Amino acid sequence: MTDMKGCHYIAGTWLADAPNGMTGVENPSDGTVFAEAPNGSRELAGQAVMAAREAFESSAWASEPRLRSAVLLEFADVLEARADEIADLMARENGKVLGQARHEVAAGYGEARYYAGVARNVFGRTFESATGRMSLMTREPSGVVSVIVPWNAPVTLLVRSVAPALAAGCAVVVKPAPQTPLTNAAVMACFDAVASLPKGVVNSVNEHGTEVGAVLSTHWEIDVISFTGSSRTGKIIMANAADTIKHVSLELGGKAPAIVFGSADTDRAVAEIKRGSLALNGQMCTCVSRVLAQDDVYDEVKARLRDAYEETTVGDARTAGVELGPIIDRPNQERLLNIIERAGDEANLVVRGTEGGNDLARGYFVTPSMFEIDDVTHDLVQDELFGPIVSIERFGDETEAIEKANATRYGLAASVHTNDLGVSMRTSRKLKFGTVWMNSHNRLLAEVETGGYRESGIGRLHGVEAMNDFLETKHIYFEVDG
Ligand code: NAD
Repeated sequence: MTDMKGCHYIAGTWLADAPNGMTGVENPSDGTVFAEAPNGSRELAGQAVMAAREAFESSAWASEPRLRSAVLLEFADVLEARADEIADLMARENGKVLGQARHEVAAGYGEARYYAGVARNVFGRTFESATGRMSLMTREPSGVVSVIVPWNAPVTLLVRSVAPALAAGCAVVVKPAPQTPLTNAAVMACFDAVASLPKGVVNSVNEHGTEVGAVLSTHWEIDVISFTGSSRTGKIIMANAADTIKHVSLELGGKAPAIVFGSADTDRAVAEIKRGSLALNGQMCTCVSRVLAQDDVYDEVKARLRDAYEETTVGDARTAGVELGPIIDRPNQERLLNIIERAGDEANLVVRGTEGGNDLARGYFVTPSMFEIDDVTHDLVQDELFGPIVSIERFGDETEAIEKANATRYGLAASVHTNDLGVSMRTSRKLKFGTVWMNSHNRLLAEVETGGYRESGIGRLHGVEAMNDFLETKHIYFEVDG
């Protein structure tokens, strides 16, 4: 299989054009630059958009759900066959711990298989408003979709937008994050291996900057933008999309609270919070970033989390047994170390994260941190820190827990830890978050919708509702005589 390392992929052809130079691909576990990828341009982005438009308008893709289903199944098989290699590449490229990287690739081919089924289950409706007056409601693919994704989960975040878009019959232009062009190209190569996929239905253009992203959010031939990334960039995309009234699907930042009631199984809660806060090295939108513990278990939860964080095995993402790998790059490592410094001055630092020992000096490590704070308005509580840093806050009763949990502008995910069903149901219904887990954290499923309230986004991905982003409903009216 051809896999042109980090190249653009347009109309079924790999392109190594680098009008804006090359970007070095760095391994954050040891700071080495192990590859380079070409940066695209406005022109290349335009070329990819027109290739997608041409494929959408002139191939059988938009009207052949069985073809789309077969393509997604074959793509899933190729991705599965390359799972170990792609997981290893991802661990090198973004520092994701190998076990989690393997899980991510498996989630990617699982997702493609799910949407292969959904592709054959999209139906319209009919309505007879008066005798012989028929309304036919058809569901049609929206057209050309731009898929803009971040670096932290470059397989699943890509597949969870591309698979429903393809299942619906759309053509796509992908823009990967500048940090992960190789993993992205490896997934593109899996599409390239599917001979029945019409050329131009799947395209991808790299960049380091915002030129390609700007084309993909303003070009008049783009119908839908499926964006995953920060709330800050989401707002720019939404503004850019306004001029041509594009449909936008936004999966944005988060600040997930884990609420631990006195009635919780604290063993389980502590294990879930540790795992849920360190996933993707603390750089996951749904990571636990706030722990809210009820008065009667506060000291116990704080002490046990402190011990759990202090015992974390930190190291190279590709080393067996490592729980926490590196931060994506040096600027983000420095940003997080500064935040920890500030948390030491402005809150009570219970666990102080550092860049790790000498053996970690070449990589961009930050060991776990936990700070105690009693001010929900403080920016350390309000802002997405995006690293292995959690706050621990105290609450007295259910009402206070809900008020504090809802006190940020984010609303992506939360978890509630209690063995009291009444408490868990009452609390979950009052939380303004798109997902609420009970006694667990970070359980994401292809079949079940995910998405945010408030500044965490618009729309849902995963599940059948993801199809809504990529389908239009058309009313065809006719009258039948007699
Ligand atoms: P980011 O917003 O900086 O970048 C995301 C993507 O947008 C990248 O491909 C980037 O190159 C591109 N981009 C940047 N500026 C752009 C512009 N002006 N126009 C078009 N594209 C532009 O985010 P990041 O730092 O790469 O990723 C981390 C963020 O993503 C966090 O906030 C995290 O919570 C969020 N995230 C959300 C989800 C979710 O499902 N809600 C999943 C993963 C990550």
